[in-house]
Order: sequence, then C-alpha cells, then structure tokens
Amino acid sequence: MEDRFFKFSLLAKFPEVIHGISTRAYGNMSLYRGDKSKTIKNREHFLSGLRAELDKVTIPEMIHGSKIISVGARERGKGACDTKNDIKGADGLITREKDLFLLVTAADCLPILAYDPALQIVAAAHCGWRGIIGGIVDELISKFRHFGAEEENIIIGIGPGICQKHFTVKKDVLEQFLENYPQAVLLRNKDGYIDLKKAILLDLKKNRLLAQNIEVAKLCPACQNGIFGSHRLEKDQAPTSAAVIGMRE
Ligand SMILES: [Zn+2]
Repeated sequence: MEDRFFKFSLLAKFPEVIHGISTRAYGNMSLYRGDKSKTIKNREHFLSGLRAELDKVTIPEMIHGSKIISVGARERGKGACDTKNDIKGADGLITREKDLFLLVTAADCLPILAYDPALQIVAAAHCGWRGIIGGIVDELISKFRHFGAEEENIIIGIGPGICQKHFTVKKDVLEQFLENYPQAVLLRNKDGYIDLKKAILLDLKKNRLLAQNIEVAKLCPACQNGIFGSHRLEKDQAPTSAAVIGMRE
C-alpha cells in the first residue's frame, strides 16, 4: 500500500502500466451519488497521483451486469465527468489503446484489473455477486481471447472487496452460489457467507489462467473501514473507491 492508493505488485512490475485503487482519503469517486463537482475534483486528484489525466479516462455504466465492452480512442473521456456518456450497459472495459485509462468504482464490490504484456491489452471490471453469477469473469477472459491473447499471459489483480465474514446473503443468493460456486460458500447457523474473491478465482482457474499471474488484495472495506468505504456498513455515505488501469505510449 502506497501512501493513499493501493497497487498490485504483479502489475507494478510493468513500467508501461499505470494502475491504482483509491482509498477513502481521496473521497467519493462515483458520479451516481453525492456532489458531482466534488467527485470530479476527487478523480482529478487521485489520477494526478498516478500521472494520468481525467480527460483520458473511460468509465462503464456499471449496472451489476456481466458485459465487457471494447473501447478505443473514440471513447476516450466518456463517463469521466458525466454519467450521460459513460459506456452504457457495461460493467467492464477492455482496450489496446495507449493513453486511455479504464476506471471502475466499487464500495464492497470487487474491482478486477487485467493486463496482457504480450499483446498490450488492459481491462477493468466491476464485480459484485450479480456480475459473478452472470459470468463476468468468463466474459472478461473471452474478450482477451477475442484479441488473440493466450490465457497464460494474462495478469490479474482482484480487490479490495467484501470478505466472506462480512458477506452474509439471503436465501435466493445463497442458492445461486451453492449451485454455481459451492466452494465459495460457508454455512453457519443457517446463514450463508459468500467468498466472492474465491468465486472469481474459481472462474479464472476454469479459464486456465495461471495462479502465479493472479494477485488477490487481502483487504476488505468492512474489515479495513478506515481505508476503504463499505456500502454494507455506511450505506449511501460510503465513499466509493476508484480502480484505474491504462498503458503509457
Ligand atoms: Zn471483512
């Protein structure tokens, strides 16, 4: 953990990659809640620490779906300052374009940042339980394959996000996880606890990604609430974090 943002050591090895996840020290990063002009200032502040610019950022709508959309130079800046032109229907973005920074927000949901150094492709996805059940991880890897990427080259950073201890779910959600990700479920006193990071790891393994290319942030916004905002604990007052990735020319 650097001063005010989190980085994955697997991605930090690549000088051409710019990435980071904001802590609550930077304030709320979502334009869907709170003061809009403040969010824009917070985004600018966070990005300047990573030497990225807000007008080169592209942001998906994030609807707890599983769609990953490919973006290029024409989409640069979309969603950066206004939700009207963010990438509708998408929960993740993928690009081969340099100087285009993909940004997703989360407060308990898990950001995934991905990079293929062989083909120079980056992607960012926002994953909650709905997206995971909807197959967002399969969708992400299939987009990489579509660009010709080989699974063994793809590097993935997962989280920070809600931990199993803090993620109790209702019966209908529990049943979906018992059916699709039984290894990610803990049953105790009739309550079900879901390990979303584990569910993502199971999907990545199924897609033949290499364990040594995957890094999981062992941080949870509810456990480390002084560092990250948690929607579970703070409801709409939770400052949403931003996770960003892009490549320099
Ligand atoms: Zn926790």
